[in-house]
Amino acid sequence: MVKRLQNYIGGRFVDAEATEYVPVYNPATCEVLAECPDSSRADVDRAVQAAKAAFDEWRSTPVLSRAQYMFRLKTLLEDNFERLARIVVEENGKTRDEARGEVRRGIESVEFAASVPSLMRGYKLEDVSSGIDETAERQPLGVFAAITPFNFPNMVPLWFLPTAITTGNTFVLKPSPQTPISMDVLFELLDELDLPEGVVNLVHGGKEASMALMEHPDVVGVSFVGSTPVAKIVYETCAKYGKRVQAQGGAKNYIAVMPDANMEASVANIMGSAYGCAGQRCLAGSVVVAIGDAYEPLKAELTKRAAAIRVGSGLEETTQMGTVISPEARDRIERMIEEGVKEGAKVILDGRGKKVEGYENGSFVGPTILDEVKPEMTVAREEIFGPVLSIMHVPDLNSAIEVINKSRYGNAASLFTNSGKAAREFKYRVRAGNIGINIGIAAATASFPFGGQKESFFGDLHGQGLDSIEFYTDKKILIERWL
Ligand code: NAD
Repeated sequence: MVKRLQNYIGGRFVDAEATEYVPVYNPATCEVLAECPDSSRADVDRAVQAAKAAFDEWRSTPVLSRAQYMFRLKTLLEDNFERLARIVVEENGKTRDEARGEVRRGIESVEFAASVPSLMRGYKLEDVSSGIDETAERQPLGVFAAITPFNFPNMVPLWFLPTAITTGNTFVLKPSPQTPISMDVLFELLDELDLPEGVVNLVHGGKEASMALMEHPDVVGVSFVGSTPVAKIVYETCAKYGKRVQAQGGAKNYIAVMPDANMEASVANIMGSAYGCAGQRCLAGSVVVAIGDAYEPLKAELTKRAAAIRVGSGLEETTQMGTVISPEARDRIERMIEEGVKEGAKVILDGRGKKVEGYENGSFVGPTILDEVKPEMTVAREEIFGPVLSIMHVPDLNSAIEVINKSRYGNAASLFTNSGKAAREFKYRVRAGNIGINIGIAAATASFPFGGQKESFFGDLHGQGLDSIEFYTDKKILIERWL
């Protein structure tokens, strides 16, 4: 029997009122793992009402007590580490090590939230006028929601939930219907914490549930992570309904390589960036910009290394690259490769039609390299979100920076070089939210803010770090005179 997932509302798992359920597949086998409800507006309203009812008591629960829940959550996550990682492999298709890395990053966000008593303090200034003192106090705001993507089903929700609740807010999460099982299990663990009813709530679903959260008058703010077209909808809708919003969108990440770079270390790093998680990372390197004489050795080495990647089911420990999320994603990626060819790119490593023995129904795309890519081609402009690396050749660093800055996305960009001067210029001029120098995946750790620029991010306060404290609290001003 395939499990029908339930929502978690007001401290218990409950059936959704939804009439439609969508199958959740293991993308390596096409086996149905669970059925996910397409929750209705009524389901969302129940969750928001539960969160609203819990808010007053929760916000007055001492902050030290709120933080204690995070220590207990961390212990539960550590105790269930391998189980959580396995679920990520099964529902998302990534490798075991990638899934372990994801769960570790999620735990780091819980650790960050445990330090909220130090982070959400306000500030005070005596004698702003004679005998008058002024204080800025940080206060929670009410019910926050998060809408999250398929590609990090465990980690991304944990960017938000822990900090939102330790700062004293209550929370409703709507995970991706393609990978909802990770959160089903997380909420089982949250249930063991005995948090007051309604502090955390889970509503499964798709577009309708997202819209219901954004339009709900009792939701004060929304954190979103997903593709750029949806991020725009989220930003506009939340603005229309007067809410705080942080909307992290899609990406097209460029990696520039100078001729003076350590070629071996650079190639190893670029491999991880382009093909890790089968290219389904918002920080995935998508276009390599080879500068001057870096081009020939880089092309040769990248092709050799990429061709040797072992593709298979993430559950096999020897697999180096897993599946993409679905047959539809595989077909879309293959169509984009085709589009690249039509526009003049050369396929020097072709991952189309990839079959893996024993996993004939899996959604595999092999590592692919497109050469002679030009900035105006679709493969250089649009997010592919698969294991496809494009190579461009430019004469100098300035040309590389110009190409990168023309992209409408700005999530991440990396430079491989041994020159401090080049590194500084790159960091200074490139318009991307996350810059890697000799690092292929510049992923901010939990105490730093994470977000892109241009069409990779809509809003001002990023996820994680001190930005998340700002996002989840308001600064109330108190001016006092005692006569
Ligand atoms: P998606 O935009 O399709 O879905 C994200 C979430 O929005 C899901 O919960 C989905 O149910 C919901 N949704 C989908 N369509 C909607 C609509 N029309 N209205 C309201 N809600 C809707 O993204 P995805 O395919 O799940 O994830 C992949 C995308 O996420 C990629 O573009 C990737 O770059 C991006 N991403 C960005 C970051 C970042 O930090 N910038 C991190 C991870 C993933």
